[in-house]
Amino acid sequence: MTAPILPGAAVGVLGSGQLGRMFAIAARRMGYRVHTFSPDYDTPTGQVADVEVTASYDDLDAVRRFASGVSVVTFEFENVSSASAEAAAGIVPVRPGGDVLHTTQNRRREKTFLARQGIPLAAFEVVESEEQLRAAVERIGRPAVLKSAGFGYDGKGQVKITAETDLREAWQGAGGGEAVLEAFVDFECELSVVAARGVDGSFAHYGAVRNEHSRHILDVTTAPAPVSPRIGEEAVEIARTILEALDVVGVLCVEYFLAGDGRLLVNELAPRPHNSGHFTFDACVTSQFEQQLRAVCGLPLGSAEQLRPAAMANLLGDLWEKGTPDWAAVCGEPDVKLHLYGKASARSGRKMGHLTAMAPTAGEAAVRVRRARSIAFRSTPRSS
Ligand code: AMP
Repeated sequence: MTAPILPGAAVGVLGSGQLGRMFAIAARRMGYRVHTFSPDYDTPTGQVADVEVTASYDDLDAVRRFASGVSVVTFEFENVSSASAEAAAGIVPVRPGGDVLHTTQNRRREKTFLARQGIPLAAFEVVESEEQLRAAVERIGRPAVLKSAGFGYDGKGQVKITAETDLREAWQGAGGGEAVLEAFVDFECELSVVAARGVDGSFAHYGAVRNEHSRHILDVTTAPAPVSPRIGEEAVEIARTILEALDVVGVLCVEYFLAGDGRLLVNELAPRPHNSGHFTFDACVTSQFEQQLRAVCGLPLGSAEQLRPAAMANLLGDLWEKGTPDWAAVCGEPDVKLHLYGKASARSGRKMGHLTAMAPTAGEAAVRVRRARSIAFRSTPRSS
C-alpha cells in the first residue's frame, strides 16, 4: 500500500461550498494545508483554505496546475466533469476516483449500477422521449416521479406524475432530455447512512438517521433515526455493499425511503460528506469531514461513535426574510451549536448554515434544534 499523506501536506478540494469549508476546518485542525478550486471567489471553502483558485472546472490546464500543488485531490461538488477528474488524476490521486463520480452524477448510471448489485430500489425505467415516457407510465402506473438523469439535486429537474398530469408538460418540465421514471413511494420516512471507506478497505458508518424535507430540501436530521434495530442494520449493510461495490475511498451517503410496508429502498447516492451528516461535526468522535480527510490521505479511519443523541436543522436563506437573526439568543442555548457558512447574500433555498442540538434523546434534540431556530428568527419582519 502507498504511504499515507501526512499532516503538513496540502490537500486539494474541487468545489468551494460549505462541505469543503467544514472539510477544510477539519483538515487545518490536523495540520494540513487546504487548496480549493471553483469558478467563484471568496467562497465558503476559500475563506478558510490556504489557497483559493478561481477557474472554470473545464479549464483542464488550471485543474492540472491545481493538482500539481497538492498531494491528493478530493471533491465536495460531485458534478465536476470526468475530463477534469482525469486531468487531476494524471498528476495526483483523486479520491474517491473518477469512476465513482461518473456513476453517481447521472441517475441512469447510478440506478442501473445499483439494480445490478441487487440493491432494493423503487421500480424505474429509463426514458429518452415523450413516447417512451407514455409507455413507461403505462407500466409503472401513477403516481410516479420523472427525474432528469443528469445534474439534479434537491428536487431540481423533477416532476410528480399524478392522475391529472399532462405527460407532454411533464416531459418538458423535467428538461426534455434523458430521464428516469420512478414509481412514487408512499414512504413512512426518509433515512440516510453516511459511511467512509479507507484506502485499505476499512469501513466506518454513522448509523441510520432520519431526514425530514421541506420543498425537496433537507430541513431536519434526527440522529439516530427512530427506527427498529433491524432497519438500522439493514441500511448500514446496504451502504457497506455500495461502498465496496463502487470501491469508494472517501465518504459516501446513501439516501433511503422506508416504505409503508417496511421495505428499505435506496433513493440516491452522494459520493461525499452529506448535509444529513453535519451533526457528526459536533456529536461524534470523528466527524464525516475528518473521516473524508483520513480516508483520502490513506490514514486509519477514526471512531464514528456518536457521543450524544443529536438533531440538525438547516438555516435556509428564506429565514432571513423574517429579519436579522438573533445569534446571541441562539448561543444562549447551551446544547446548541451554530454553524454559518460565510455566504454574503441570503437567497431563497440557499443553505446559509445549520444548527446542531444535543439532548438525552434524539427526539428531544429535534425539539431543541427547531426551538433554537425559531428563537433565532423570531424578530419582527423588515419594514423595507
Ligand atoms: P431526490 O432529488 O431524488 O433526492 O428527491 C428529492 C425528494 O423528493 C426526496 O427526498 C423525496 O422527499 C421526494 N421523492 C423523490 N423521489 C420520490 C419517489 N419515488 N417517491 C416519493 N417521493 C420521492
